[in-house]
Amino acid sequence: MLDDEQARELAARFPVLRRTVGDKPLVYLDSGATSQRPEAVLSAEQTFLTQSYAAVHRGAHTLAVEATDAFEDARRTVAQFVGAEEREVVWTSNATEAINLVTYAMSNATAGSNGAGPDSRRFALAPGDEILVTESEHHANLVPWQELCARTGATLRWVPVDDDGLLRMDTLDDLVGERTKVIAFTHVSNVTGAVNNVAAFVAAAKRVGALTVLDACQSVPHLPVDFHALDVDFAAFSGHKMLGPTGIGVLYGRGELLDSLPTFLTGGSMITSVTMERSEYLPAPTRFEAGTQRISQAVALAAAVRFLTDVGMDKVAAWEAHLGQRLAVGVSQLPGVRLVGPRPGQERVGLASVSVEGVHSHDVGQLLDVAGVAVRVGHHCAQPLHRRLGLTATTRASTYLYNTTDDVDRFLEELSGVRRYFR
Ligand code: PLP
Repeated sequence: MLDDEQARELAARFPVLRRTVGDKPLVYLDSGATSQRPEAVLSAEQTFLTQSYAAVHRGAHTLAVEATDAFEDARRTVAQFVGAEEREVVWTSNATEAINLVTYAMSNATAGSNGAGPDSRRFALAPGDEILVTESEHHANLVPWQELCARTGATLRWVPVDDDGLLRMDTLDDLVGERTKVIAFTHVSNVTGAVNNVAAFVAAAKRVGALTVLDACQSVPHLPVDFHALDVDFAAFSGHKMLGPTGIGVLYGRGELLDSLPTFLTGGSMITSVTMERSEYLPAPTRFEAGTQRISQAVALAAAVRFLTDVGMDKVAAWEAHLGQRLAVGVSQLPGVRLVGPRPGQERVGLASVSVEGVHSHDVGQLLDVAGVAVRVGHHCAQPLHRRLGLTATTRASTYLYNTTDDVDRFLEELSGVRRYFR
């Protein structure tokens, strides 16, 4: 595990973390929304742009070759980081687009379009088929499934949560049956910080031959994650939450599945031959990467992955678990403050969402901002979960490898003053 001194040394490598807000040093506790970038990531992108930038996969000139090598090397680096093969990593804009890619490809399988061959039938849906999600999903892993149901006549079902916002896994066996075609669920909740039982979902899916789709947005940045070991069929995550740039994300797909999945976006760079009547598509992952890609962003994401690997994901996870417990214990001791998610002592990542009695989360966030503490307020793109908890909004503090116990204590101290201020 890291310690405070190491976390401070790491923080010193992130230029933005040196700034002040007003006259207060910045305490950045909003990495669940987006993380900050170290000098190594900023300079990797800058070096690539100033030395080797060109269009990839075509062109015979030196820059094109260098750019293609850097782009494909980034794919290799990211694949290794998540226990995948290179051909299983598809670049997307973000996790949202990655999940939409799967849902639109499934629509195309249903319609028999976009390269839907005989092998793609297992992705086709019919009225009466079911898609299972959970009540705690981020909208990115809920709305696309709702829309897929609307397009195909399939029915959406969900695993409910309990009064703390934790999944009612005791309901899983009853919810999964012969009609279940997809189980889509988050690895780590962006509201509760709970780490879900992936093995239980995968076992339930395998029993009935359903596909599993993992939202790994809040796990890949913070925990060691190996998609082959987890045995999921698809997974999605975003570069900007793991020290990388915005504009790049990943869809992981099990190799043999990606090869038979119909395409989503079509056009240049993803074909083998085009006539005026029809087109043939390249194998995965290129068949899913239509148009000019996010080249420098991929290179920068690889630099972020190298940074995380150098620190060690085991150490990052242990440190954030420690910070998460400090948050949970501290919050639970504050009168009038409700902690959602796992209780102190139960597993959580470095993330805690709270509701302060009688004070709107936007007011909480503003008071904390005056003290230099940056947190997220609102429903965090999880309205159904908040509704189930009887809340419209919460205030969320979320850590990363650059946060210290002092940062957590600053948050707790300022939070304890909020109710006094509004009384
Ligand atoms: N899923 C989870 C659990 C998230 O926390 C987020 C982002 O907050 C997303 C999906 C969507 O990520 P993006 O907006 O980068 O596509």
